[in-house]
Amino acid sequence: GIDPLNTLAVEVAAEPGAWVLPLAPGLDDAAFESDGQLTKAEIRAVTLAALRPRLGERLWDIGGGAGSVAIEWMLRHPAMRAVAVEARPDRAARIRRNAESLGVPDLAVVEGAAPAALAGLPPPDAVFVGGGVSEPGLLARAAEALPPGGRLVANAVTLEGEAALLGAFSETGGALRRLSVARADPVGGMHGWRAAMPVTQWVWTR
Ligand code: SAH
Repeated sequence: GIDPLNTLAVEVAAEPGAWVLPLAPGLDDAAFESDGQLTKAEIRAVTLAALRPRLGERLWDIGGGAGSVAIEWMLRHPAMRAVAVEARPDRAARIRRNAESLGVPDLAVVEGAAPAALAGLPPPDAVFVGGGVSEPGLLARAAEALPPGGRLVANAVTLEGEAALLGAFSETGGALRRLSVARADPVGGMHGWRAAMPVTQWVWTR
């Protein structure tokens, strides 16, 4: 069972194997059902930190995938709000399942392609772009939806996505960084580093 409010935290030993949600983001990848399109735990933790969640704020998670970023945003506090926008129906359905099983059923899921699917959404305090970064107009549309002080964080693993982030950085500033993670993996009875694709991240505050 999942305990989103951490009421089990002081009696974790009572139920071996129970998931007790930590206070910091970066849940194990295995906490989420996914088809492989998942922001991995280390990158997710850095991404949530860059989004700087504050009490009661609303996140737009554009290119929701398995929903992990929106779900971790919601898990910071019961007052948090989030909308995940996902183009693929199967993945939109998966986001709903993950939100349900991780104890944040109030996560809103919009099935559709951004930027068109952003029309009519309640305004965000922070936006994460995890997919569709190179769609024409998407980054600009996300930026202009933010209030002063709102945060925009966008991740890309493709060169095309990275080119869009470099363009946004050159035009509007912010910070651009590249994150690389390698995990030890079995190699013939021993272990070697298995490098994940590096993630380029653009962080901008309105
Ligand atoms: N951050 C997610 C993984 C994102 S994978 C997680 O951790 O679960 C990128 C996703 O963006 C894919 O599911 C893809 O279908 C979606 N996507 C790509 N372009 C999109 C667009 N224009 N609008 C909405 N979703 C898009």
